[in-house]
This record gives sequence, structure tokens and C-alpha cells, in this order.
Amino acid sequence: MTDKTVVAAVVGRPNVGKSTLVNALVGEKIAIVSPKPQTTRNRIFGIFEKDGTQVVLLDTPGFHRARTRLGDFMVKTVNDSVADVDAAVLVVEPVDNVGVQESQLIERIRASGAPAILVINKTDTVKKEDLLPIIARYGQAYAFDAVVPLSARTGDGVSELADELLRFRQEGEPLFPDDMITDQPERQMCAELVREKLLMTLQREVPHGTAVEVTRFHERDDGITDIDVTIYCEKAGHKGIIIGKNGAALKKVGELARRDIEKLLDGRVCLKTWVKVKENWRDSDVMIKNFGYTDE
Ligand code: GDP
Ligand code: MG
Repeated sequence: MTDKTVVAAVVGRPNVGKSTLVNALVGEKIAIVSPKPQTTRNRIFGIFEKDGTQVVLLDTPGFHRARTRLGDFMVKTVNDSVADVDAAVLVVEPVDNVGVQESQLIERIRASGAPAILVINKTDTVKKEDLLPIIARYGQAYAFDAVVPLSARTGDGVSELADELLRFRQEGEPLFPDDMITDQPERQMCAELVREKLLMTLQREVPHGTAVEVTRFHERDDGITDIDVTIYCEKAGHKGIIIGKNGAALKKVGELARRDIEKLLDGRVCLKTWVKVKENWRDSDVMIKNFGYTDE
């Protein structure tokens, strides 16, 4: 049971190893939440649990511009709370010099007033004695609450960072239910993207109780990914709306979704969509779990 949470923003210039670090902390699991692009201000990097605490790692566009599509998968519950994160994690290269981008990020951290952890990453590339001047240099730039040298690549020091994060935990319900955290993030995100395009294309017409499931996700040897998607709706009439006149609506949904999925997967995608009528699917827990979200 988790009864404490930490929401932390992970910031740093490109290529310092933020994604690698988050993967090292989180493993395969990330959160899948409903797309709310208009209200998204922060992006979920990953979630993990340690000692009864749920740690939510955010990539904050206010801090830097993220390249991933994760931002479209922001959950409602976090939306309002993230303005003030419990901690900021600044990830830097192991060099004895505070760069321009680092200085800017430090200023933002200072302005936010959030507790701050400095992560000196890639310690596998430097000698131990080289760390001291780096720590001293950053110590002059800002009074960090903690400094953790680590190697996201080897995993050395990563659990120490997790322990430091726990120092900033708050009492409270988990921000994400366990069943919204999945080990099939790409698959789930594809389903969410199709759902997002449905909402965009059909606007207010989108039938209540429409759900999307990825039934096949297969990467060929030549790198093309075959993705089969089934859109479930509750009534035959809904099926007609989703498909549209001469199939125009479904075609548009598939085209828009394919483009975004190709960006997400960074490769070519062959996307096939089907629409099926399935009455009362919302009554089935199993299906809701499959879809990765509950009805909103
Ligand atoms: P991001 O842009 O900040 O998300 O950085 P990435 O996580 O994509 O990493 C950028 C590059 O740095 C990749 O080639 C990683 O393999 C490498 N990298 C990340 N962490 C480490 C580390 O601890 N040691 C070394 N040697 N390389 C790392
Ligand atoms: Mg990255």
C-alpha cells in the first residue's frame, strides 16, 4: 500500500541522460492516462514505488522542451498539483563548469522555491577525485538540498537518488492507481493516440463509451511496425459515426494517428483500424483494464 507521494520534475539539457536515468529508476513501467492536450503543462516521465511511496517523475516543459509525446498523456489528478512539485532534480554532465543552460535551470529552480537535488550523471566516465571540484562548483552556484553523483548507465548510485527523493514525500493517496501503470507503454500510448484523434476528428459527436484497444503490435525485421487497432463502441449507430461518410472519418483518424505514432516510435508504421460494436463493455473490468483507463 502506498500512502505517500513525491512529485518531482526532472530537468537538464538534452543528452545529459534524463531518459536513461528515469528508465533506471522506473524500469519498464510508466503511467497511461487520458489525453488532455489542451490542459497539459507537464509530462509524465515515469512512476515508481519505493517503501510505500509513489514517486511521479515529470518532465516539465516550463523547464525545458521535451521531445517525447508523453505530454499528451497527462492525468487529471496531477494537473493541478504540479504547479508546485515536491522536488526538482537537475541532471548535469560531470564537468567542472556550470553551463549557460544549467544556470538558467538553476534560476528557474530558485524561482520555483522547490527543494532541489543535483544529479551529476555519467560518473562512469570520470575518476572519483574529479567529482569533488564539480560538486564544489555547483555548490557555489546554488544551495542544493542534496547532491547525488551516479551513473544512469551502470545503475551505480541510482538507489541513493531514490532515497533522496523519498525525503520530500507527502502524505496522500497515490496519484495513479496501480492498474494505470503499465509495462506495455508503447502499446497503450498507441491506443491513446487513436482515441485522441477520434476525439479531435469527431469533436463533440464522439459516442460515449468508445474505447480503443491495440490487438497487434509487431515490429518487422525491416523496422516497420504493424499495429492493429480495434475501436469499440456500444451501438451500431455509433459505428456509423466513427466510420463516417465513405469511411472518411475513420480514414482521417488513422492517418493522424499513424503520423503521431511514427513520431512516438521513431519509425514507419503500418496502422490498420477496425470498428466493432460491443455492448456493455464498460461493465467488464477486464476490458477496462485492457484499455488502460476507466470511463471519464
Ligand atoms: P536525455 O536527452 O537527457 O534524455 O539523455 P538520454 O537519456 O537520451 O542519454 C543521452 C546519451 O547519454 C545516451 O547515449 C546515453 O546512453 C548516454 N548516457 C546516459 N546516462 C549515461 C551514463 O550514466 N553514463 C554514460 N557513459 N552515458 C550515459
Ligand atoms: Mg530524453
